[in-house]
Amino acid sequence: IEKHKTVVLYPSLGVGHLNPMVELAKVFLSRGVAVIIAVVDSPDAMARLATTNPDITFRHLPVPLTGRDQQYSHPIMRTIDVLRAASPALRGFLRGQVPAVDALVVDMFCTDALDVAAELGVPAYFFFTSALADLAVMLHLPYNFPAASLKDVPEAVLRFPGVPPIRAMDMATTVQDRESDIARARLRQCARMPEARGFLVNTFDWLEARALKALRCGLCTPGRPTPPVYCIGPLVLPGNTDGSGERHACLEWLDTQPSRSVVFLSFGSMGIFSEAQLREIASGLENSGHMFLWVVRNPPEHQSKSIEPDMEALLPEGFLERTRERGYVMKNWAPQMEVLQHDAVGAFVTHCGWNSALEGIVSGVLMICWPLYSEQRMNKVHMVEEMKVGVVMEGYEEELVKAEELEAKVRLVMESEEGNKLRERLVVAKEMAVDALKEGGGSSDVAFDQFLRGL
Ligand code: UDP
Repeated sequence: IEKHKTVVLYPSLGVGHLNPMVELAKVFLSRGVAVIIAVVDSPDAMARLATTNPDITFRHLPVPLTGRDQQYSHPIMRTIDVLRAASPALRGFLRGQVPAVDALVVDMFCTDALDVAAELGVPAYFFFTSALADLAVMLHLPYNFPAASLKDVPEAVLRFPGVPPIRAMDMATTVQDRESDIARARLRQCARMPEARGFLVNTFDWLEARALKALRCGLCTPGRPTPPVYCIGPLVLPGNTDGSGERHACLEWLDTQPSRSVVFLSFGSMGIFSEAQLREIASGLENSGHMFLWVVRNPPEHQSKSIEPDMEALLPEGFLERTRERGYVMKNWAPQMEVLQHDAVGAFVTHCGWNSALEGIVSGVLMICWPLYSEQRMNKVHMVEEMKVGVVMEGYEEELVKAEELEAKVRLVMESEEGNKLRERLVVAKEMAVDALKEGGGSSDVAFDQFLRGL
């Protein structure tokens, strides 16, 4: 009889890293593999997730309080520090598992866990939750890091195997300043990634065929083998995760709108705009004449007063009144996946976070790419130039995206021949996403089987 397998999943800090690990855990469970998620922080989220996912074992790893008073040059520097401090707890926990666990799956900031795994002889894998093309870039970056700081040569074009050319300014924000602690730390992490036994990636073969080929041919890590890549996605959070079972009012509103008529604007968990930018967006939406569902957050300059945006004060005078019939403005947060799945939604203005991109693809919704932070500008390049699932919002790298540009792009995707053409591509992409996940033969299903056989 085959031994029952157990894997330990080790997310980085924050709910944004914990949630995808829970989705991955469900895939393991569906294959009869037992899962323990070892969590360093987010005790509240962990408790909530443990209640809704009784088949997953959650283990809290006690970590000495580091960095309480320390000032970090970048939030990820703190993450790296805390995760390093958590290594002894992880080691102790893994040592205590008898028989030994079959694998340790870590997310991309947990490079220190590679040392723990090596020491204990546990095979370590990365779970990579951005585009495969980003993985190709990151693996190749240590071989291809320009001598100048990227921020000093914003128009310089960088070339990576399997990926369209990327302007320096579109590279991840963490590596923009060559001399910064964060760039050095990230580069060190990238250089160590090939030490893993393999990469599980939240994407699917069809979507990123070119990056996959480059990785498989070893082009991204010249002179050393590239660990195998398993594209096992798209894993997306199911809609209605708040557990209330009640349908959000915005969905009721969408019910009253015609098919494919609404532009949805949402910018991830952290996207925030200035008041001036909110006004430009409002004008652009109003002038486009299209229906819209828009998630608005309080601008940074008002955040100290309240998290709740005061819409009347923020948006142009009379805007809410004038667009009452065709616009729905929400505060802070929307049930994004359910919105995207709604038949009334015709386009998605997105910040290009990878989860949002996948959710758009799975829903077959054409995207207008407006990248804001971390690796989103790279995702924009992949989405527009390689995957062809979106168009770019020009001016994203400037201080303001103008109302005219927003109007033009909304019109392009909603009214033009070009928009229709692109939409056809999304119909296909959506089908391919479903296909990839099909049991017994879908590319992601097969990839996961291959991965499990190698354990
Ligand atoms: N999200 C949501 N409602 C919102 C904003 C975001 O449900 O109003 C969800 C979205 O569906 C996605 C996640 O939050 O699953 C954001 O992840 P992503 O990788 O797109 O961006 P990040 O927040 O990491 O920048």
